[in-house]
Amino acid sequence: MYPRPFHYHRASSLIEATAMLTQLGEEAKLLAGGQSLIPLMKLRFANPRHLVDLNFVSGTSYIQEENGTVKFGALTRHSEIENSRIAEHFPILHDCAAGIADVQIRNRGTIGGSLAEADPSGDWATVLLTQETDIRCLSPRGERTIALADFITDAYTTLLEHDELVREVMVKKPDKSSGGAYLAFKRSAPVYPTASAAVQLTVEGDVCKDATIVLGCVGLVPVRAEGAADALRGRKIDDKAVATAMDAVRTATDPQTDMRGSAEYKRTLAAALVKRAIEVAMRRARGEKVEVSHIYA
Ligand SMILES: Cc1cc2nc3c(=O)[nH]c(=O)nc-3n(C[C@H](O)[C@H](O)[C@H](O)COP(=O)(O)OP(=O)(O)OC[C@H]3O[C@@H](n4cnc5c(N)ncnc54)[C@H](O)[C@@H]3O)c2cc1C
Repeated sequence: MYPRPFHYHRASSLIEATAMLTQLGEEAKLLAGGQSLIPLMKLRFANPRHLVDLNFVSGTSYIQEENGTVKFGALTRHSEIENSRIAEHFPILHDCAAGIADVQIRNRGTIGGSLAEADPSGDWATVLLTQETDIRCLSPRGERTIALADFITDAYTTLLEHDELVREVMVKKPDKSSGGAYLAFKRSAPVYPTASAAVQLTVEGDVCKDATIVLGCVGLVPVRAEGAADALRGRKIDDKAVATAMDAVRTATDPQTDMRGSAEYKRTLAAALVKRAIEVAMRRARGEKVEVSHIYA
């Protein structure tokens, strides 16, 4: 199906884009990679009268490291992150970027668009919530920085005002004794996951000093599995601790039954993904290079 007619506006700077949003009003939307918005327009679930294209604004696609923080321009494509040197040394970013849909979508879709869309099945929010992540936003009133944990407030809902955009995503690099892993279960490559799990562990010898576990696709927003992290924190990570964490994951989740599977199936899947992600995160925290890919049905 074709989208409803709309007016196309090409922004030449981010500040101009926010001014256009103010001027054009609520019926205007930003266009980044178009990999969420255009399909929704074609299905006529989204019917903006105006599109403000960010793709011709220079200096919006970059990956920089500064004082232990990795900064991504909002229009940095998933594939640029997948193939970056940073992702080589920060493997949970690679796990995420390389597993998003297929190469065509990764070449167009952007990290800023993904976080702004706040799709409950999107990968970036789940992964970046295991890290210290801040979102730099810009509007005609100036800039503000919002912690990712506060940025997404509900399914497809963020704190962004209508005339505000994501300018940059800032992720603090974890300590050397910390390792992370992200795994998703998918029916095939170009679809969203059925369930996913991101785990970040800081270890000292055999003991887990700190843990963060976030689950994707099992709630309206990514779910922080605090009970599961508590089961690991301050303990030796053995079979018993992992089994307790898996039990906590099952109770932390409230998935919807849908075409991807029943609620019970997704709870079991999330627990199994957490188990595997813990194993990989532990090995990475000990300095091992471990490559993983999502699990396909
Ligand atoms: C078949 C298919 C499979 C997919 N599978 C996956 C998957 O497995 N995992 C996954 O995570 N994603 C998946 N995606 C989505 C993909 O990752 C998108 O790239 C992403 O969700 C949105 O990014 P975008 O740059 O394309 O944003 P767009 O589609 O251009 O925009 C999405 C929304 O965000 C707003 N927006 C965009 N940029 C900004 C900004 N800088 N500031 C404020 N608002 C902004 C737009 O106005 C719009 O409302 C899939 C998409 C398709 C079509």
